[in-house]
Amino acid sequence: MTDEERQYATQCAATDPHSFYKWSRWEEVRTEVLRADHYECQRCKLKYHRYRRATTVHHINHLKARPDLALEMYYHNPATHADERNLISLCHDCHEEVHGWRIPACQDPLTVERWD
Ligand SMILES: [Zn+2]
Ligand SMILES: [Zn+2]
Repeated sequence: MTDEERQYATQCAATDPHSFYKWSRWEEVRTEVLRADHYECQRCKLKYHRYRRATTVHHINHLKARPDLALEMYYHNPATHADERNLISLCHDCHEEVHGWRIPACQDPLTVERWD
């Protein structure tokens, strides 16, 4: 990511995450990730050995937590000393599950971040 991109993503994450997802750079990167994953949900593939069409690109490091990685398909994970996926193609159901949006809300649902 360039300095300008990092600045923009950081600003979006802090003030208006919607604008990040409307950004032309995000659209480009999102398409790249889906193409790289052949539009297949990577979680369904690895976990359930089944094919499902990916509709979403998910930030493993959430936008709010790491806006500096927002457009990076890979990142260096210091815990494993390996380059791992930061952006990953998921189907709708897996995306809901990884965010825990399907778990009946014990906490206030209004506090749930729906935009990363
Ligand atoms: Zn899936
Ligand atoms: Zn997500």
